[in-house]
Amino acid sequence: MAIQVTRTYVGSIQNHRQVCDGLDSLGDSASKIWNVARWTAGRIWDETGKIPGEGPLKAYMKNQVCWKDLNAQSSQKVIEELSDAFQSWFDLRHKYDKANPPGYRKHGDTRPRSTVTFKADGFKHDPKNNRVRLSKGSNFKEHFSDFILCEYQTRPDVSLSDATTVQNVRAVWTGGEWELHFVCKVEIEPNDAAGDGVAGIDLGITNIATVAFPDEYVLYPGNSLKQDKHYFKRAEYDTEGENGPSERSMWARRKRSERETHFYHVLTDAIITECVERNVGTLAVSWPENVRESDWGNTGNKKLHTWAFDRITQYLSYKGEERGVEVRKENEWNTSKTCSQCGDNTKSNRKHRGLYVCSSCELVGNADCNGAENMRQKITPSPHGEDRSNGCVAQPSTYLFDRESGTFKSREQVVL
Ligand SMILES: [Zn+2]
Repeated sequence: MAIQVTRTYVGSIQNHRQVCDGLDSLGDSASKIWNVARWTAGRIWDETGKIPGEGPLKAYMKNQVCWKDLNAQSSQKVIEELSDAFQSWFDLRHKYDKANPPGYRKHGDTRPRSTVTFKADGFKHDPKNNRVRLSKGSNFKEHFSDFILCEYQTRPDVSLSDATTVQNVRAVWTGGEWELHFVCKVEIEPNDAAGDGVAGIDLGITNIATVAFPDEYVLYPGNSLKQDKHYFKRAEYDTEGENGPSERSMWARRKRSERETHFYHVLTDAIITECVERNVGTLAVSWPENVRESDWGNTGNKKLHTWAFDRITQYLSYKGEERGVEVRKENEWNTSKTCSQCGDNTKSNRKHRGLYVCSSCELVGNADCNGAENMRQKITPSPHGEDRSNGCVAQPSTYLFDRESGTFKSREQVVL
């Protein structure tokens, strides 16, 4: 039986030069709306001790001049994002003392280009000609029918044909250019479940993913991402001329982001394939809330990693869905502290970076594997790894990204 799923497809804009000024204005206005709403929420908060809800904020914002820079639904979406940001801050506050409320969107005197979402009456899609019309707000219209007409191209294996329902379109600034995200409802035929096995994943920074399969631990390091970062660094930070970043720096940013996307696709394909081959029908994915602060570096890094984790989880979910592997997001709280062998969660257990040492049962092993095993145990009926020998936490296999073949291979097969 076919099931309906939500997919997001990326379209690169073919007539970027013609539409980028228009999109820049909308992206700037979305930031402006965010900032005015943020300021308003702060003022009400100071006076009443409460953050205003989405409804009252929208009602207030409708009278602001900037509201009409965007299509009404697009403006409303900005307020919804702000409300969500306040909500996740409330949720986080229970866990971190240092969590900060959502901030303003500005870089010094300028504003960043925010994502602009176009809902039902904010866009008109022409799938036959790969075009989409995006609405502006009345402030930016010279004529009633003014809009931004984007010509786009998707990945070759993706078609936004008439059969696909596009729910909304987002214009996203990637740092070098705008791209379009089409959020679609798609019908797919799911495979039967891959099996009864359960696996767990720990997402991280050095090891992008660590998977606890029922019979083995596998590490997927981010070696090639690190190499790319190094390789493109100079070009990316190429001096900005009078007309913004140089051509070469734009090229480098685009190239690196393409390679990164490719890496995540290949990584998640490889993991789901391993699951299918090992009869794993359920995969528990961590949401890394408790990565040690020292690992994040500065806040910018944290944002970047959160974005990457989000993307990996998204890819795993939809690739898993097609191949009968159910991907479950589990809360990771405490999984890095807890011993996967005996369940002890003494704080002193995590001794060294990368190595987990349990003071109760004397387990010594790779900390990422221990975390992944704890994720697996959130779902598997056997607590504390009773269904396996934990000796393998110490000796995981490593699969490296091999540029030449574009696949992940065991360390022995990759010539470094
Ligand atoms: Zn232990």
